[in-house]
Amino acid sequence: MSQSRALGVLTVPAFKDNYLWLIHNGCYAVAVDPGDADEIQAALTQHHLQLVAILLTHHHKDHSGGIAQLLNTYQVPVFGPKSCSLDCITHPVGHHDTVDVPEMGLQLMALHVPGHTLDHTAYIATSHGWLFCGDTLFAAGCGRVFEGTYEQMLASLDLLASMPDETLVFCAHEYTLSNLRFALAADPENRKLHARLRVDTDKRAHVRPTVPSTLGLEKQTNPFLRCRAPDLIGQLQAQGRLGQDCSPLDVFAALREWKNVFK
Ligand SMILES: [Zn+2]
Repeated sequence: MSQSRALGVLTVPAFKDNYLWLIHNGCYAVAVDPGDADEIQAALTQHHLQLVAILLTHHHKDHSGGIAQLLNTYQVPVFGPKSCSLDCITHPVGHHDTVDVPEMGLQLMALHVPGHTLDHTAYIATSHGWLFCGDTLFAAGCGRVFEGTYEQMLASLDLLASMPDETLVFCAHEYTLSNLRFALAADPENRKLHARLRVDTDKRAHVRPTVPSTLGLEKQTNPFLRCRAPDLIGQLQAQGRLGQDCSPLDVFAALREWKNVFK
């Protein structure tokens, strides 16, 4: 019976600015990146949900740190990147592998998106248009490139950007307003960016999440998804940050290196 229930996604804030996610059907739930077991447990209790699976995007502690504690209470499969060394993963997944959660009639596809880390994997629930992208794509920004190359990160972002515009982007941090300040410095004439800043500033003033956003909005306003946009490239050239002959990779590298030191 529960399989026919509509699915939803609960936002579980944790630590300073993380979002953990619970995909649920009112009865069962899947935790995405449960960095903090206590927060997940509290949300499960509050909403009368039973945990049936865990998804992990990458090995960083703020995403994986609660898994061992949850496994003490729940004997559930842990889906995570096959290149991840954490031994809590019971179901390693590779690119285009399917994650099946039969209790909820839920299927997700794993997408290997290295760059932030080499193991980084995103999950897309194609039937619902939900993308859980961890620390690869952020609202108005992208993750730092800690382990991979800029080339890998750009290819990963390009892959995510190839999903439909209406896809909801469930990223793992509330970094949006600071990302938007950088985006406006890089892309000051982008009117959609100014409009987004007004909307998201209002949300934060009311302590509401700015996440999920839509992929369509990201493609219009996230500079890291606009490495081929002539207007953005022109503005970076006018600021002296790019030469005349530049590839999308040059644009990405210039943006990422600037963002790394942007205050
Ligand atoms: Zn991370």
